[in-house]
Amino acid sequence: MSPSVKERNDHEKILNFFHNLFLSYPNNSMFKMSQYDSISVERRWQKMWKDEEIYHFDPESEKPAYSIDNPPRYTSGSLHLGHATGYSLIDFAARYKRMRGYNVFFPLCFDVNGTPIEVKVEKKHNITKLDLPREEYRKLCSEYANGFVDEMTHHFEILGESMDPSIYYQTDAPYYRRITQISFVELFNKGMVYKAAFPINWCPRCMTALADAEVDHKDNVTKLNFIKFGIAGKSGHVMIATTRPELICTCKVVAVHPDDKEKQHLIGKELVTPIYGRKVKVIADPKVDPEFGTGNVMICTIGDKDDLEWVMKYHLEMEKGIDEAGKMTELAGKYVGMPVKEARAAIIADLKASGILVEQKDSPQQVSVCWRCSTPVEFLQVPQWFLKTLELKEQVLKRADEIKWYPEFMKIRLQDWVNSLEWDWVLSRQRIFATPVPVWECEECGEAVCATEEQCYVDPTTDAPPVEKCPKCKGKLIGCTDVFDTWMDSSGSSLYNTFWKRDDELHKKFFPMSMRPQSHDIIRTWAFYSILRAEQLEQSIPWEDIMIHGFIMAPDGTPMHSSVGNVINPIPILENHGADALRYFAASCSLGTDHAFREADVTRGKKLANKIFNIGQFVGRFFDSKPSKTGVFRESDKWIISRYSETREAVTEYLDQYQFDKALKEVESFIWHEFADNYIEMAKMRKDPAVKYTLYNVFLRSIKMLAPFMPHVTEDVYQEHFAKYEKSKSIHIMDWPSSIFVDEEAIGIGRAITEITSAIRAWKSEKKMPLNAELSKVEIIGEDVLVLEKASQDITETSKIKDLIFLKKAELKEEIVAIKPVHAKLGPAFKAQAKGIVAALSALSPKDAVNSITPAGLKITVDGEKMTLAQEFWEAEKRLTLDGKTVETIQLGNTLIVLEI
Ligand SMILES: [Zn+2]
Ligand SMILES: [Zn+2]
Repeated sequence: MSPSVKERNDHEKILNFFHNLFLSYPNNSMFKMSQYDSISVERRWQKMWKDEEIYHFDPESEKPAYSIDNPPRYTSGSLHLGHATGYSLIDFAARYKRMRGYNVFFPLCFDVNGTPIEVKVEKKHNITKLDLPREEYRKLCSEYANGFVDEMTHHFEILGESMDPSIYYQTDAPYYRRITQISFVELFNKGMVYKAAFPINWCPRCMTALADAEVDHKDNVTKLNFIKFGIAGKSGHVMIATTRPELICTCKVVAVHPDDKEKQHLIGKELVTPIYGRKVKVIADPKVDPEFGTGNVMICTIGDKDDLEWVMKYHLEMEKGIDEAGKMTELAGKYVGMPVKEARAAIIADLKASGILVEQKDSPQQVSVCWRCSTPVEFLQVPQWFLKTLELKEQVLKRADEIKWYPEFMKIRLQDWVNSLEWDWVLSRQRIFATPVPVWECEECGEAVCATEEQCYVDPTTDAPPVEKCPKCKGKLIGCTDVFDTWMDSSGSSLYNTFWKRDDELHKKFFPMSMRPQSHDIIRTWAFYSILRAEQLEQSIPWEDIMIHGFIMAPDGTPMHSSVGNVINPIPILENHGADALRYFAASCSLGTDHAFREADVTRGKKLANKIFNIGQFVGRFFDSKPSKTGVFRESDKWIISRYSETREAVTEYLDQYQFDKALKEVESFIWHEFADNYIEMAKMRKDPAVKYTLYNVFLRSIKMLAPFMPHVTEDVYQEHFAKYEKSKSIHIMDWPSSIFVDEEAIGIGRAITEITSAIRAWKSEKKMPLNAELSKVEIIGEDVLVLEKASQDITETSKIKDLIFLKKAELKEEIVAIKPVHAKLGPAFKAQAKGIVAALSALSPKDAVNSITPAGLKITVDGEKMTLAQEFWEAEKRLTLDGKTVETIQLGNTLIVLEI
């Protein structure tokens, strides 16, 4: 590893070096290393951006639009690291596209709806939805959720997110709910909505239907109960194993496997259920697992999805043993009104007492639980509104292929989900704080009357229907109390954002949107439903690109959970290190995968901000007007301009692919290691027009590339050193920088001279010489070094060399100066004789020493006795000479640097 590479890995060293750089500058008092005060600087520019409306989206603009279907942040309060990172990734894209000349649509928005808010309000006030009138309940939820909006808006500001408050929306506002309802009205009128009593996932705690996507699975160990069923008209019994004995009241049939020889005699017979004495038939079905339990399966009309399959197959009558509140119905007899768990315990106790339950075994199982509150989900038959989804599977998959996925592999998650769908989308929820389903139903015949488009936003529980009476039977129309699944609201964001049903011309101009950013856990919900809705309503994709980021984990890679106590609050990080530093960490999180939080990255980001600020202080002194492209470029100028241009191409390509981590690495490495460490070192003594032009253009263009990632420090440097010449109100609305030129030869020369000057710098520091110490003569020797003569001035000025010579070859001589004893080994080996040996070695002249060295060792005379001293006991001190003068050398690949001392 060459010294320059070694140095690259050591930021501390570089900081020290940079410090020296300023001290070594003649007017060093002007260039003291300053500490960048991130907090005051960040607040100053955040205020300016807001006051000047820097990120304003203009719907009338002629520029091409880049619209972001920004995830409305859920109003639940505190900011966590996942939000801070996710929204920063989106902001990188927004800022980049703005600089690329797009009219960027990046709305400030919040999701204010749904069960999580209700759950929190119920906990806070210790109530359920049944305890209050709907209006009052809704008001409590609204107050609770809206109480967070100001604070959460502030979070976005201190993170430096460039969202535009002029296109603000929140999903509970009548203007947004209106769009949700109109989309329903259209689908209703197209015949895509139906109401059906269907067994559905049901959370007894939240008292509402759940979509499959809202059901989580938890591993659990339960008891498998072995229970005796009587045989009709006979003595004896059949043993049934079940984990849910409370469902015996709805047992319809018992199934065995058709190939189970021992069970053949039972098929077609009738069994008698315990407690209820109901006769149930034994059937043969190949889906029975003969190895599980006793091989006899009790089939109930409501239990889980497998039961449902049998219920459908054998046309069994549906019976409701559990109600919406998760309590046993009349069917359960003496257990009526008990919650499921309590009923199970009671029936187990009764069956045990009567000797009907003979054994219990542990049985591992997967429990379905509500994703919001973790209550076990029941499978109930409740009338619900459905949106036809299954018949659109193919179209959704086709649209998914038309969308560009970043990263591409995330598309598989959507495809797998679509392929696994077995149900239409259950649109309705029996909750309150959400968008009302705009329907009235006839009290007499059940006919549904949908609102008209003009009526929306409408609340059927308080507003009048579009017609006075049922069009079928003149019966009374009653407002529907159901509300929409929250995904019905949020999956319409691409419609709302593009002025759908608000302004036809603007909708045409902006739909589909450019990009949907989101996390991977909501592909099966938000992404899927959004694609479905766009297909149903517009026969189109909702957006061209989808960018999917992962989660932020605790530093040890495990999920952050308040119950574990490992949640990291980003606010203190923002206050101690600044938003730019946290955003630096965010940029390091490549898309599509989860990332552990690394504080080291935040610290590194902070150092980079400090570095940029200080380079600005230094570079800014070089010009008092905008430098023009005059003067003669040196090799170092051509090199740094070429490397800037190459970097610009790479960064642009990465950003076009949303590869923020790679883009930032390129910019950082260029600014820090090439521009600051090497070019500035070469340029610091110059005052010619070429150096001014180069410093101005390369640095300004470099901070423009950094601006999407670290918007504050780049704005600060721009305002202080460039704004007076550039006339743009903010760096963030300037054009993305262009390349200048790429000179391949200059790149090669530049690389060689930076290696040479870095090596000399490292050598001086090793010798404890000041970095600006003058070297009288240096020779650069090697087959290919003559081309470097062009850059002679760059090297001599940088390394303070009086006389620099380039040679293809040189005759170096190596000579022995003295023989040194190895005391540590001599003493133990020779004891008393050691002293004499040391004296003999120091008495050897260099010339004698050369003659005394043999393959066996060094021939010497100690106290009149001749001996051969083995190699391990002495060292030959050598020196190199060139033309008789003592020199030192540094080997750099094929190049040798010879320094005269
Ligand atoms: Zn729940
Ligand atoms: Zn009617």
